[in-house]
Amino acid sequence: MKTMILYVATSNPGKLRDFSATAKAQETNTEILPLPGLADIPAPPEDEPTFEGNARTKAIYYSSLAPGKIVLADDSGLEVDALHGAPGVRSARYGDDAEFTSSPDLSLDERNNRCLLHALRNVPEVDRQARYRCVLAAARDGQVLAIADGSVEGIILFEPRGHSGFGYDPLFFLPGLEKTMAEIDLQTKLALSHRGRALRALRPQLA
Ligand code: IMP
Repeated sequence: MKTMILYVATSNPGKLRDFSATAKAQETNTEILPLPGLADIPAPPEDEPTFEGNARTKAIYYSSLAPGKIVLADDSGLEVDALHGAPGVRSARYGDDAEFTSSPDLSLDERNNRCLLHALRNVPEVDRQARYRCVLAAARDGQVLAIADGSVEGIILFEPRGHSGFGYDPLFFLPGLEKTMAEIDLQTKLALSHRGRALRALRPQLA
């Protein structure tokens, strides 16, 4: 079977690693490559109200600049049930406008995590269900070819645990493993990854 090359419109090495590892494990003759020249292309606005809207916008935009190539674009984040799906599409900058977190010595991830703990301060353990979600869109020449969704379920803790990973990982507890995302090894994380699950769901649609 001929190898299908999918060009991912991301400069985030963690995302590329998740997609490449999934493609290799899937044995579907898929090669994942970074979209050439991405650093020189101005990024489109990510201001849609849904992950799908942002993934579609990015896939259409980048694929129209890369004639003939199948371009993948994703949007991902954390959804917390008790917060009606927030931080959602605002996951990357959730802590930005919260005054109590505006300390210059905190990283963006730390501000986001503090903001999340503050928002959930009165929510008991039984109501702290959450999930990481990834929506992945594939497009060619400005036309969307396929859309897929992947998620991983967890519980938001009351304080951070573990030092690996990034983003909300130290607060994201996996009940099946009794560990947070920041306490598991890379192989386990890759097997669970919401990005990997989205790619596994997307790939058959491109056959
Ligand atoms: P992006 O817009 O897809 O790059 O991701 C938005 C934000 O969601 C990131 O900045 C993180 O805060 C959060 N996020 C997405 N995936 C993960 C993950 O696997 N672990 C931790 N945080 C994540």
